Amino acid sequence: MNTERNIETKKAILEKIKEYETIVIARHERPDGDAIGSSHGLARILRISFPEKHIYVSDQDSSEYLAFLNTEEADPKGIGLENALAIVVDTAGLDRCANKEIGKARELIKIDHHIDVTPYGGISWIEDERSSVCEMIAAFQYTFRDILKLDTRAATLLYAGMVTDSGRFRYSETSGETLRLAGYLLDMGVDTQTLYANLYLEEFDFFKFQSHVFGKMKITENGVAYLYVDNAMQQQFHLSREQASSSVDFMNKIKGSLIWLAFIDNPDGSIRVRLRSRFITVDKLANNYGGGGHANASGATVHSLQEMQKLVDEADSLLKKYKTENEGWL
Ligand code: AMP
Repeated sequence: MNTERNIETKKAILEKIKEYETIVIARHERPDGDAIGSSHGLARILRISFPEKHIYVSDQDSSEYLAFLNTEEADPKGIGLENALAIVVDTAGLDRCANKEIGKARELIKIDHHIDVTPYGGISWIEDERSSVCEMIAAFQYTFRDILKLDTRAATLLYAGMVTDSGRFRYSETSGETLRLAGYLLDMGVDTQTLYANLYLEEFDFFKFQSHVFGKMKITENGVAYLYVDNAMQQQFHLSREQASSSVDFMNKIKGSLIWLAFIDNPDGSIRVRLRSRFITVDKLANNYGGGGHANASGATVHSLQEMQKLVDEADSLLKKYKTENEGWL
């Protein structure tokens, strides 16, 4: 495994960790597997490596889908951030951090794999070609394995984030290094049967929702697939926000549909957009709608059906251009 990549930055982060007695780890709001896995995986590594330190994870909100990982912790209010080192993982901009106070920490470190549009932190370790921050944390632990301990629990948390953020190791960011690090974690005794059952089995009702949505799915002239899960649908099928949002993945296997979009009604009246693609990139399209993210997986928000249509039309033009100018896509 390549331990030399960004070695000076990684060393600087380790030095800061050694220096501080109190460390608060924070991540983006509406956490996914990578946010939860990387924050709690890193916390676990630090706790078993430095039992004398106070390590907190900032869990202001939680994920029902990932509750089986049993990671809920008290909101570290009143810890006195002014004396703490904050490590913010998987969070492109501080405005997306679940802990809105985190900027008050004495020092701030950013560890992220999103494109670095809004830098922050005294030390910033960005590897946007990585499939997940969990992969970066695994690499961090491996680099300093003489100092940082790893156990089955930490490995399971990191592996869960790697599997979910890489779409089970299918997304284009999955590299040889991803698989080597995943193998390294698996060797720590991760119970994959239980993990995959928790991650991927669905209730019967969810399949009813799926069949309903398939009937409503649309496709533009040039192949942008999209669907809209409005409030009524969410109520009809008793969907959690996460279940409604997961509908974006229903569209990821359509030939010729290189961009697919899910629109999900938010409780506040706005509409969450989840953009996905293969071959072509969508992060710049997301930037036009107050969002961003990765080349092939981004998020944004629209505020009306007209704006939704505008985004669909823009995606369609983008795809038309791509298909005209490129070959070999599927
Ligand atoms: P989502 O579809 O919401 O899971 O978003 C896909 C990816 O884009 C995730 O890695 C998010 O962190 C990122 N993302 C979502 N919304 C935004 C945003 N408003 N700004 C920057 N990145 C975002």
